Amino acid sequence: MSRPLKIILGLCSGIFLGLICHQYPGPWLNAAIAYISQPLGQLFMRLIFMIVVPLVFSSLILGIFELQDFKQLGRVGVKTLIYTVLASFSSVLVGLAFVSIFKPGEGLDPEMTKHLGALSEPVRSSQPATFTAALVSLIPKNPIASAANALEGDMLSLMIFTLIFGAALLLVRGDNKRDPLVACLETVRAVSMKIVDFAMSLAPLGVAALMFTMTAQFGLGLIANLGKYTAVVIAALAFQQFIVFGLILKLLARKSPWQFFSQIKEVMLTALSTASSNATLPTSIRVAENNLKLNRNISSFVLTIGSAANQNGTALFEGVTVLFLAQLYGIHLGLDEQLVVLFMSVVAGMGTAGVPGGSIPMMMIVLQTVGVPAEGIGLILGVDRILDMCRTVLNVSGDLVCAQVIQASESKNQ
Ligand code: ASP
Repeated sequence: MSRPLKIILGLCSGIFLGLICHQYPGPWLNAAIAYISQPLGQLFMRLIFMIVVPLVFSSLILGIFELQDFKQLGRVGVKTLIYTVLASFSSVLVGLAFVSIFKPGEGLDPEMTKHLGALSEPVRSSQPATFTAALVSLIPKNPIASAANALEGDMLSLMIFTLIFGAALLLVRGDNKRDPLVACLETVRAVSMKIVDFAMSLAPLGVAALMFTMTAQFGLGLIANLGKYTAVVIAALAFQQFIVFGLILKLLARKSPWQFFSQIKEVMLTALSTASSNATLPTSIRVAENNLKLNRNISSFVLTIGSAANQNGTALFEGVTVLFLAQLYGIHLGLDEQLVVLFMSVVAGMGTAGVPGGSIPMMMIVLQTVGVPAEGIGLILGVDRILDMCRTVLNVSGDLVCAQVIQASESKNQ
């Protein structure tokens, strides 16, 4: 049986058993939750938590280091970078708008909200008092201390340190991809992804335990919110894909969106079935050349960089999920915190590996930074596979839109 199917089975059996047990509350149920399902769910979550710091450290430094590829391709590289940042911002904005309008996390019984908050470990709330203090604290005094406290709210300063470190590494060793530190970081990144993969192989059991804990205590209450959340993510992804990308294609590439989407449908289907940008890359390169008739040099560069950095669907998903969980936990995020979510979702989208579930560790960081319990991820893991398939479609379509736009602007220049 394939892994996604097992996860869905875990999800359904956890919900089913939980709903039955919810009808017969009593000390035995509390004991089953406290001693079996909750620890099992937490074990699974901790396996992912454990790998967040090494993964962020290695992937962000390598992300900056790999920017030298942009430099080598000069103008096309700069255009790809600018497009990637702008497209990611627009995706997150669409996501945030949808979640603010439809509020999928609201409407939960206040008692349940309180109970839900009590289930997760407290998040440090000593945020700096003023905007200036917050800005100053972005530069850590001691990066090791930031790494140690990363999951308690110091992740942003660790990320800033990592970005500065990566930029300096690029200046010092820019032309040397064989530098031992680079090789070492590549291994750390690969090992971290392997551990995420181990954790995901436990996902069916972990998801069943998390879902059981949730439904045995809350009944159907949360399921309705989860359904609404899933619908909001899919609607926002579809809006970005067909309306925003449609407009970009029409205005910047002078191409009929209808024709474009029918030419790339094979890529969309591959992304949907693999939930991996990396696995879809060969199909994207072939379709760009054969169906879209793009220049091979431009498209293979843009698509390769894009499969790693231009993750519009992932960025959108991260923004929506953080706001949804904040609504669910009854945490109010002010405008400044929403700006942090916007900025971090863009960065996290760019740092996410193009593999199934690649965004989950990154998402924990964004949650912790704005003070939403990262355990909340456990609530959405059950529906994540479906959302992963859909956001990967947007990720790979976004890369092809980018290639199409850059090709159009390059042919104007010639
Ligand atoms: N599965 C996504 C991709 O490969 C990454 C993610 O959002 O988890 O593009």
